Amino acid sequence: MGNIRFKAVETAISMKPKIVTPPSGKISDYFGELTFNEVAMKEYLTEEAFKKVMDAINKGGKIDRNIADQVASSLKAWAMSKGATHYTHWFHPLTGSTAEKHDAFLTPTDGGKAIENFYGSELIQQEPDASSFPSGGIRNTFEARGYTAWDPTSPAFLLNNTLCIPTIFVSYTGEALDYKTPLLKALNFIDEASVNVCQYFEKDVTRVNATLGWEQEYFLVDTSLYFARPDLVLTGRTVFGHASAKDQQLSDHYFGSIAERVMEFMKDFEIESHRLGIPLKLRHNEVAPNQFECAPVFEETNLSVDHNQLLMHIMQKVAKNHNLTVLFHEKPYAKVNGSGKHNNWSLMTNTGINLLSPGKTTKSNLRFLTFLINILKAVDTYGDLLRASTATAGNDLRLGAGEAPPAIISVFIGSHLSKILDNIENKLKTGKINANLKAELDLNISKIPEILLDNTDRNRTSPFAFTGDKFEFRTVGASDTCSNAMTVLNLIVADQLTKFKQEVDSLMAKKVRKDEAIFTILKKYITESKKIRFEGNSYSQDWIKEAEKRGLFNLQSTPEALKVFLRQEIIDLYQRNHILTKRELIARYDIKLENYTKKQQIESRVIGDLAKNHIIPKAIRYQNLLIENVTGLKEVLDAKNYNKLSKNELQTIKDISEHVSKIKVNVDLMIDNRKKANKLDTSEKKAQVYHDKVLPYFDIIRYHVDKLELLVDDELWTLPKYRELLFIR
Ligand code: ADP
Ligand code: MG
Repeated sequence: MGNIRFKAVETAISMKPKIVTPPSGKISDYFGELTFNEVAMKEYLTEEAFKKVMDAINKGGKIDRNIADQVASSLKAWAMSKGATHYTHWFHPLTGSTAEKHDAFLTPTDGGKAIENFYGSELIQQEPDASSFPSGGIRNTFEARGYTAWDPTSPAFLLNNTLCIPTIFVSYTGEALDYKTPLLKALNFIDEASVNVCQYFEKDVTRVNATLGWEQEYFLVDTSLYFARPDLVLTGRTVFGHASAKDQQLSDHYFGSIAERVMEFMKDFEIESHRLGIPLKLRHNEVAPNQFECAPVFEETNLSVDHNQLLMHIMQKVAKNHNLTVLFHEKPYAKVNGSGKHNNWSLMTNTGINLLSPGKTTKSNLRFLTFLINILKAVDTYGDLLRASTATAGNDLRLGAGEAPPAIISVFIGSHLSKILDNIENKLKTGKINANLKAELDLNISKIPEILLDNTDRNRTSPFAFTGDKFEFRTVGASDTCSNAMTVLNLIVADQLTKFKQEVDSLMAKKVRKDEAIFTILKKYITESKKIRFEGNSYSQDWIKEAEKRGLFNLQSTPEALKVFLRQEIIDLYQRNHILTKRELIARYDIKLENYTKKQQIESRVIGDLAKNHIIPKAIRYQNLLIENVTGLKEVLDAKNYNKLSKNELQTIKDISEHVSKIKVNVDLMIDNRKKANKLDTSEKKAQVYHDKVLPYFDIIRYHVDKLELLVDDELWTLPKYRELLFIR
């Protein structure tokens, strides 16, 4: 039997780019043609229904049964005109991916015929009886089903001739079973809190949208090579593999010209994405070989989160046509860069103002500083919660690995803004603001350049960086949904803005003038949140020490980070703002922990199996060849020559034995510890023991396997090597 690795390499190399012919015309001709967007709604809906739906989208208005029936029937007509036969509610269960259950529009009629129907009731609500999704104990079988409910703020779209309707997923007892429900609540909250604060500055602001523009990093691997690596198939990452002699050290991949096969894949998934209204704009090679990035134009956050989930699905689907597989794992390969999903975030008013963009006037700059400083204060208070929102087994391998921000949350704002904040703080040291001081402060803030964008010094190492007119939250992992991070970020900022308003109002009630009240509270926040500001290199060892001195959290593992959700002040934060109840929060905590444990369990099994079934047998086979050879030498050589010439081979034979026995011993120990962990009675204990007692063996075993990879004859080695996985496409 041939070596499976060589066959895979051969197939991969012989792959020709599959040339994609784009639809004729400009992108703008087909952009959004598969979504029931405003244009389609205008065409298909009655004026009344259109008004009601737009009202629901823009102001959260309710849609009654009669209107829902009209919308459903128009949706059906629109979808069928484009070939749809089925519909599905499309939701985000707590597995982190998306779910769908398709129903045909079909209704049988008399005489063995059928017609297509779709009613308002089917649009608004469905009972998918999706009882196998994790619920963290919320849905005991006796309290039965969960149901999905239409989210009109994210337009319906067509996928594989199926009309997909974005929905939330909740239990009959009203508890959230998905990631969208708390996100929508947090987005409402930031809207309300920001509008209230905006009222100090602009009376005509009545709505504020949080905006999100993600940057999606990913690796591509040829599918034949992928299937020859059981670890990639089962865990999404390589658990073994010696570094390639050359990988990213020459930085020759970063922003390099895109290989033709990859380019055709990119074009292909961009076309599909554009047809679905996902505004992809940017593509480039990333730092590691075979690593890439794409990013859209930013959108309202809920829509942008949906679009990211949809994009990941489209990419996997389209990749198949090119015999490529997309790896979204945060760290598919050791020793080269991992993949993140930077979340660019800002706040946009209905009057078209970006609240994180400095303006032309003193007033608009005070508004800008108000939001900026409140964000600093929010991140200072809840940095550990932000970190926890990104905690997954995969991301643990990426954070702090020298190419991604550490697990410590800090904020970078650039030297210009730092100076302005220091200045406000120093000037207000004495407390009282008189007319002179006020004039001085005004002058000071009027100096903020309108376009900070080009003036901001870029700090690439900060987990939470101000980049001119938005913040970039870089801790989020590439495979994760943006919902968790976006729920937390919008929640903590909204909560902070609410407190700010209360504090300013209470000063104003004591007859302090508005501007003075605002400055006074901002000065207090600048002082209180100082420890979260860091302008230096977040990748450095010095920062880890410094952060510890400052009392910042460094939550390096998922079990440790998730504990934040159990803290009383965090439960209070979620409850007082009606985002999640304590029960919902604890359910999520349990699900995340269980997910962590299961992933580690799978990895541990894969490591054990591969080591025993692939690595050790090959090593021993090669060792036998060497032994045969040495025995042969003994027969043909005289003793003196034999002793001299067999030395190296005897050493290799010994080395192989050494590594094989180390692998065997450590795999057995790992399995013992795994068994002990599995017997523990709480998800908390299990996850912790997996982390403390099982995980450490992964690296030990890997070390010996990777050494064997260097020793064993290349012809015998069956797992595709890094030099193949990273360079062949
Ligand atoms: P980078 O230098 O980090 O690559 P870019 O300027 O290219 O930054 O933008 C990266 C992302 O930031 C894009 O996805 C873009 O949509 C997003 N972005 C730009 N402005 C905003 C904003 N106001 N709100 C949210 N995201 C934004
Ligand atoms: Mg970026």
